[in-house]
Amino acid sequence: MGVKIYNSLSRQLEEFSPQIEGQVSMYSCGPTVYDYIHIGNARTALVTDIIRRYLEYRGYAVKLVQNLTDIDDKIITRAQTLGVSSSQLADTNGQAYFEDTQRLGIQPADVHPKATEHIPEMIDLIKTLIAKNAAYVIEGSVYYRVNSFKEYGKLSRRKPEDLLAGARVEVDPRKEDPRDFDMWKAAKPGEPFWDSPWGPGRPGWHIECSSMAMKHLGETIDIHAGGEDLLFPHHENEIAQSELATGKPFARYWVHVAFLKIDGKRMGKSEQNFIFLREALDKYSAEIIRHFLISAHYRHPLDYSLESLQKSESALKRLNNCVDSLQKYYEATPEIEENNSTASVDTSHEDSELLEMIKTLQIQFTDAMDNDFNTAKAIGTIFSFVSHVNKSLRSSNEVSSYTLANAYKVLLETCQVLGIYTMDEQDKDTENTAASLDPLVELLLEIRQDAREQKDWDTSDKIRDRLKEIDIEIQDTREGTSWKFVS
Ligand code: AMP
Ligand code: ZN
Repeated sequence: MGVKIYNSLSRQLEEFSPQIEGQVSMYSCGPTVYDYIHIGNARTALVTDIIRRYLEYRGYAVKLVQNLTDIDDKIITRAQTLGVSSSQLADTNGQAYFEDTQRLGIQPADVHPKATEHIPEMIDLIKTLIAKNAAYVIEGSVYYRVNSFKEYGKLSRRKPEDLLAGARVEVDPRKEDPRDFDMWKAAKPGEPFWDSPWGPGRPGWHIECSSMAMKHLGETIDIHAGGEDLLFPHHENEIAQSELATGKPFARYWVHVAFLKIDGKRMGKSEQNFIFLREALDKYSAEIIRHFLISAHYRHPLDYSLESLQKSESALKRLNNCVDSLQKYYEATPEIEENNSTASVDTSHEDSELLEMIKTLQIQFTDAMDNDFNTAKAIGTIFSFVSHVNKSLRSSNEVSSYTLANAYKVLLETCQVLGIYTMDEQDKDTENTAASLDPLVELLLEIRQDAREQKDWDTSDKIRDRLKEIDIEIQDTREGTSWKFVS
């Protein structure tokens, strides 16, 4: 039995079988870099990271491509408001994206293509579509002719009438059909532009992903992932462009991540109800945030709350304590790496019970993750194993070091696939110190806030500067003041 993936295209759970045995090509729609990412964006990025880690754990070689949308309306508008160029804004936020995701323990993709570095490829794809009569030019803009692709709507399964009503397109009377969408936008005054056969302009969002995915992964890719909001129109349009141009299936498995919600609503920039990932990371460790974000299966919505993060925090304390208690047995048992057999040891009753549990952990963890990457179940399996180990460690009957070392090895392996165990002693120390200092620093921040309200800038600055002297940096944001250690 192998990995099964729920394919949004067929709306079924399917056996996963990549085009080339043992190799997986995967594309994930990345951020539009007009601001820092929030923890909703982080959920989608993290699910991509976990799918990749798990497929690697299952022995596949994965090539992951995740784009950066570095030119778009939101970037242009924000840059104009801030008085910087679009490219400056996109560079700064692109850099911040890498910093933030790295802090969350997300491994970089193999390629992070930027839209602005693929304009020639986009122009070529648009030319192909024009040559196939699937696109038309109006006053320097190029539109995709939806009517030319008979399978349009196959991903979202929207009927033509719903498509007319639901398309996120501005009504433009010049279009042949309201469903048609732009692949090239004629330049407006003051906006960045590139030269093209149709005059100066910039690419549309959908053509960016079609071009970059095919350039780096070929005409047919194995897995295409993104948040559920992208299913329509973005992914529907990517399919229409790519499949009409190549005559081949564009992506074989479509994976859509459900929303992170807050107070029952989607967390989003436009809703003004978001928490930046970097702010969350100033308060909670990467492992705690990861644990929280994967505590539900990726196709189910997840509600953000402080209590949920606190629950993840205490769960991880239990996990870390357990792994730490097992570590000494592992270090004292070097042969564990050579001899992987858990069954070949002469054992006591407790030993055999724990050995059985180790096998169960391996089997149940793999079953859960094979079943459409069910992280919620996988975590449940890990934690029932932790309870069992703790019982064994407390038991007056001796369990052999060999068995405990095995328990450590298997537990660590599974946790590493999910990235929920803190390896680094220094990180753990910092985390513990931060937790114990938090009430004190919060008190100082409250006093500083009172001082600021009374325009007592001397006191306010003094608190900030004195904290800085002891390596605590505070940051004032729209949502309030946060703090972190700096070295
Ligand atoms: P954006 O920068 O808005 O293009 O979003 C980047 C990625 O984050 C896309 O794959 C979105 O679908 C995803 N995303 C945005 N908001 C959320 C949310 N609240 N929960 C989960 N994923 C989200
Ligand atoms: Zn995309």
